[in-house]
Amino acid sequence: MKIVAVRTHLLEHRLAVPFESASMRFDRRAHVLVEIECDDGTIGWGECLGPARPNAAVVAAYTPWLIGQDPRQTEKLWAILYNALRDQGQRGLAITALSGIDIALWDIKGKHYRASVSMLLGGRWRESVRAYATGSFKRDGVDRVSDNALEMAERRAQGFHACKIKIGFGIEEDLRVIRAVREAIGDEMRLMIDANHGYTVTEAIRLGKAAADYDIDWFEEPVVPEQLSAYRAVRAGQPIPVAGGETWHGRYGMWPAIESRAVDILQPDLCGCGGFSEMAKITSLATLHGVGIVPHVWGTGVHIAAALQFMAAMTPDPVRVNPIEPILEFDRTENPFRQAVLKAPIEAVDGVVAIPDAPGLGIEIDRDALARFKMPESAQ
Ligand SMILES: [Mg+2]
Repeated sequence: MKIVAVRTHLLEHRLAVPFESASMRFDRRAHVLVEIECDDGTIGWGECLGPARPNAAVVAAYTPWLIGQDPRQTEKLWAILYNALRDQGQRGLAITALSGIDIALWDIKGKHYRASVSMLLGGRWRESVRAYATGSFKRDGVDRVSDNALEMAERRAQGFHACKIKIGFGIEEDLRVIRAVREAIGDEMRLMIDANHGYTVTEAIRLGKAAADYDIDWFEEPVVPEQLSAYRAVRAGQPIPVAGGETWHGRYGMWPAIESRAVDILQPDLCGCGGFSEMAKITSLATLHGVGIVPHVWGTGVHIAAALQFMAAMTPDPVRVNPIEPILEFDRTENPFRQAVLKAPIEAVDGVVAIPDAPGLGIEIDRDALARFKMPESAQ
């Protein structure tokens, strides 16, 4: 079995209403899928986290090392590709692009051996996971307080047991948002806050101390990801568990945060941290220090499917160490191609998502949707 082609698919949708986090403004959704084709006709799919066009360029740079190789040798190919760009590429795009390739290779391996990726990873502990709704970005021309409260009340009505809201826009306004959302969703629903590294240490500690009254499960990316000492200061200075990790890549990027206990909850992203091959290693490292893992998810149905396969295989707490039951991050912001790329969309029913058990990622791609949402050449 040999790889004969590696292709990328750039997808784009212009948002009706632009939105922003504390660190980024979105006027469009753009994601890149990776397609790997083998000589026997088997095709695998993956996805890269982060800017679509630069990721596609790095995937193209890796391609000469992939053509002619046996796609089932996931560990070997990961090492070859990592080594190819290692001197300049230990983090960032070199790893996010490698993630998309690794996921596609595992999809192929699963299809070849007629097993889901979760079975290849060691077995399925669960057939479904509870999802938490991510949303409540700051939208142009809209009052954040009422907008976020209304949105999350709707998520509760849809059956979600937990939701995550965006903060990092100023302590006083953020606290008004948190209070309004807690009132709108009631006492039972879990609530998380994500500052997208918008705060300084002092601000994050002030916010965390005040927000703790509203029963917050975790405080995500309170401060910039480069400064682990700042993470540790926030963790020590306020009572809410600290989460982070979506911008750290590979085991070498995660290890310092794990070892120094900079976070309570680590959030590696399968499409960014190095794919299934690397995620398994990162999870093992985290268990050594009792750091919980909740994968970060921000992408299309391919990304969601990959996260589900990994989560199916995560060993639960009573048996080993992951101290929390995994929950799926379910992005609820505007993105019409998120589910359209799948022939069978992966949706939450009463806040619960079933984990596909068909070979590989367990999904089929709708090529018409890839054509429909193809990024215009001018934007590429
Ligand atoms: Mg986040």
